[in-house]
Amino acid sequence: MSTDIRDDTRAGFTELFGREPEGLWSAPGRVNLIGEHTDYNEGFVLPFAIDRRTVVAVGLRDDRVVRVASTIADDVVEIALSDLAPSVLSGWPAYPLGVVWAFSEFGADLSAVPGLDLFIDSDVPLGAGLSSSAAIESAVALALNDVWRLGLDRPTLARVGQRAENVAVGAPTGIMDQSASLLGRADHAVFLDCRTLESELVPLGLAEAELAILVIDTGVKHSHATGGYGERRAACERGAAVLGAASLRDVSVDDLPRAQELLDDVTFRRVRHVVTENQRVLDTVEVLQSGGGAAAIGDLLDASHRSMRDDFEISVPELDLAVETAVQAGALGARMTGGGFGGAAIALVRVGDLSRVQVAVDNAFGEHGFGQPDTFVVFASDGAARN
Ligand code: ADP
Ligand code: MG
Repeated sequence: MSTDIRDDTRAGFTELFGREPEGLWSAPGRVNLIGEHTDYNEGFVLPFAIDRRTVVAVGLRDDRVVRVASTIADDVVEIALSDLAPSVLSGWPAYPLGVVWAFSEFGADLSAVPGLDLFIDSDVPLGAGLSSSAAIESAVALALNDVWRLGLDRPTLARVGQRAENVAVGAPTGIMDQSASLLGRADHAVFLDCRTLESELVPLGLAEAELAILVIDTGVKHSHATGGYGERRAACERGAAVLGAASLRDVSVDDLPRAQELLDDVTFRRVRHVVTENQRVLDTVEVLQSGGGAAAIGDLLDASHRSMRDDFEISVPELDLAVETAVQAGALGARMTGGGFGGAAIALVRVGDLSRVQVAVDNAFGEHGFGQPDTFVVFASDGAARN
């Protein structure tokens, strides 16, 4: 992370609140290498934390008020700790204040902790599928855990962030994003079992292989609180119930013929995506751990995209164009990443081919009359930290 954003956050805090902050905490956005819509099905995901971060400057107060400001908004939101409840939160403040509230469900006594001033800045693009939401939640969660001396471990802080997003924001998202943001490590992906919440760092070895992950942010905005995300989740629950499984985690590729007999076409295709995607995550981890190298995971990325496009139906024309064009221009594999319905695609690209792929994607978007995408390389980076 550039020191600029930290300096800006500190300066923003001082200007607004008229004093120095207690400290700065930051947490990264994430790219999901593979494993989409598997997290809430108790399956497997393989995200990595990226070199784009959200920074929060925190000052303790001697009363019981929380004030929060962000560079994305002009207003300062103020609320008494005793008034915090999901029902009174909306808009962007529901993310940081939702985290403050969620700690009350993880053992914090909100009637005994000091108030806070929070100032937030970020270079994670919002709504692009890089999880600016987990970045802000994880930065605030780590900060509060420190300043309030709560002593929660990182997997628990991920659950605090998820709780905020599910209940205070009202987006039924899984645990992946917060886990990547809190548990990430430079040059590694986080292999997460969303049932047990056990995680393992998997070396990516991109730099040695002279490979890079290119993000293609289509600029198409999505919202998880509305739209198809909840509907997909419901279809997965429906499919698992008909199959007599606790969750789709318990359905294997071998079970798919039976699933096809029992389920309607749409539900079957939703199920098939999740079941095959879990297998692709396991295959990707095996390739990376057995020395196959990142160059060997391209086909798995391509298959993941096809499954999301055709079976789960969460892609949009801009994402499909980005993926097809990147592969035609030499990418080893590409897929949309994140919850879908917009946001970003990722492409696995030889470093020497990066500009060719970028130019090809720009041109293709121009030819199709789509707005220009934002393309940039991301590096697997360390997770949330005090800094
Ligand atoms: P994504 O996580 O893919 O970026 P989401 O819709 O899940 O998209 O989360 C984006 C929302 O999170 C924003 O619309 C805003 O409400 C909130 N948010 C993210 N980053 C910030 C920030 N730096 N300041 C204030 N709110 C933020
Ligand atoms: Mg999000």
